[in-house]
Amino acid sequence: VFNFAAGPATLPESVILKAQADLFNYQGCGMSVMEMSHRGKEFDFIIKKAESDLRALLSIPSDYAVVFLQGGATTQFAALPLNLCSPEDSADYVVTGSWSDKAFKEAQKYCKAKTIWSGKPEKYTKIPAFDALEQNPDARYLHICGNETIHGVEFKDYPTPLNKDSILVADMSSHFCSKPVDVSKFGVIYAGAQKNVGPSGVTILIVRKDLMGNAQPITPVMLDFKTQAEAASLYNTPPCFALYICGLVFEDLLQQGGLVEVEKKNAKKAGILYDAIDGSDGFYVCPVEKSVRSLMNVPFTLQRSDLEKKFIEEAALEKMVQLKGHRSVGGVRASIYNAMPLAGVEKLVAFMKDFQARHP
Ligand code: PLP
Repeated sequence: VFNFAAGPATLPESVILKAQADLFNYQGCGMSVMEMSHRGKEFDFIIKKAESDLRALLSIPSDYAVVFLQGGATTQFAALPLNLCSPEDSADYVVTGSWSDKAFKEAQKYCKAKTIWSGKPEKYTKIPAFDALEQNPDARYLHICGNETIHGVEFKDYPTPLNKDSILVADMSSHFCSKPVDVSKFGVIYAGAQKNVGPSGVTILIVRKDLMGNAQPITPVMLDFKTQAEAASLYNTPPCFALYICGLVFEDLLQQGGLVEVEKKNAKKAGILYDAIDGSDGFYVCPVEKSVRSLMNVPFTLQRSDLEKKFIEEAALEKMVQLKGHRSVGGVRASIYNAMPLAGVEKLVAFMKDFQARHP
């Protein structure tokens, strides 16, 4: 099956096979990763290797902490203002789709969050010009969602916060590790694992070290960046098995040649799919402005919307599953994360052409 789900999503077959081989007896230690102590030597090796491989993949500078958390990216929507602001501080949000809107709404509970740009009037099909952003001079941070999973818009470059004390914060959940990123441009990067790098249950936080230690007094201990970083992601029991799989994925991405190579593959897959949509004489339509189309999530509609259900059902019969658009927007969405093979996209494109030919 080619699984086009937006997340949890397809994982590299080699990773699943490796995990299967280790399932009952991890590396001959007689236990499954699911059964072992998170403070034992086997797991210590797993979590340290996962961190060092991720650091290598993204060239994460040493003044940044890497923390593996739980609670999904959604929990970080609250943790960000709690760690970076007092209740009186302001924070700027660029709202390019449903996820950045959710992040903004949650932040409003803990600081004076403001939406400084919204793509809603244009149905979230654009990324703003950075010089058009009216940033607040006193904002503690500028928040963006690097890739909007539902609407399929992706930042190709990143805005700079207005003043030197402000930082850029990015939700990278749905394009994390899909391409190289200059981590030093950001104060905080966070991502749920379940799209590109593992199963659900792990949330990755990359935070500049000097930003930690000022959490609001009401911050739950589990959401305090400093507590979690100082405990090296082991303040409480982590999602051991999910973390182990993330570690295997990081290793796999390094073996592929790192994120430069991974990005080339992703660009090729997305290019084939967008070309098929744009070359269909309007039979398929992608509403997103061309320059900001996501390499990961490709939403499109059929000009004849009455055919959409049939399209999705017939694709599933051909073993291409989970192509239904998000329930909030409808249409079709093909999520083509790192682990989607080129063959999966080629098969989808061939099916699209055939479907169009059968419905003149
Ligand atoms: N941010 C983005 C961009 C997402 O795609 C998602 C989930 O799909 C989330 C946040 C929420 O993530 P989680 O379900 O891990 O809380």
